[in-house]
Amino acid sequence: MKILLVFDFDHTIIDDNSDTRIVQCAPEKKLPIELQDSYEKGFWTKFMGRVFKYLGDEGVTEDEMKRAVTSMPLTPGMVELLNFIRKNKDKFECIIISDSNSVFINWVLEATNFRDVFDKVFTNPAAFDSNGLLTVENYHTHSCNRCPKNLCKNVVLVEFVDKQLQQGVNYARIVYIGDGGNDVCPVMFLKKNDVAMPRKGYTLQKTLSRMSQNLEPTESSVVVWSSGVEIISHLLFLIKE
Ligand SMILES: [Mg+2]
Ligand SMILES: [Zn+2]
Repeated sequence: MKILLVFDFDHTIIDDNSDTRIVQCAPEKKLPIELQDSYEKGFWTKFMGRVFKYLGDEGVTEDEMKRAVTSMPLTPGMVELLNFIRKNKDKFECIIISDSNSVFINWVLEATNFRDVFDKVFTNPAAFDSNGLLTVENYHTHSCNRCPKNLCKNVVLVEFVDKQLQQGVNYARIVYIGDGGNDVCPVMFLKKNDVAMPRKGYTLQKTLSRMSQNLEPTESSVVVWSSGVEIISHLLFLIKE
């Protein structure tokens, strides 16, 4: 049985937020105040749709956006980690669940040559329309009240694992690698054998440590990381078990 590795994208694989970085393409590298203030909690994808529309109307091209996105650095140790996973593909299956979008993630995986490491990418579907505007849609609809309207990562993960099980694929354990507030929901549902790997100093890690102080720890074990190299050490430990 393989280990299922679940990756977040922004601030986990890349050391930045793609949706924030893209604003660098705007005139004066900022959004008009009205647009900036139009974000409603839970409706991130809708907001990004308006941002992409604005960038398109300002004449920002696909190429400029691609350059901005692919110039974001990978998180420290991520190259080593992804190479390690590639070399050990017989032991790991690897997916991304991200609230970014398919265009940005494809650009990064292509530019860094790591597309083959990931078996599947779950994210908001995006595409350039015939007018050159980037459009983005909600990944799905769900009824989880902890998560933004467009994506509950826990629902995605549970559906994926169930579907794999129907095909006869069972995982030894799940290792969840992420940083953000929207990674809390899937981590809360990990089981005893699974491992939550929150990035040190980021929202997910702070939330998990607050939960354990409040005596509501997660069922899974928690291993904090700052670099992908530390994740390799833990994966080596898991495959030797
Ligand atoms: Mg993130
Ligand atoms: Zn949720």
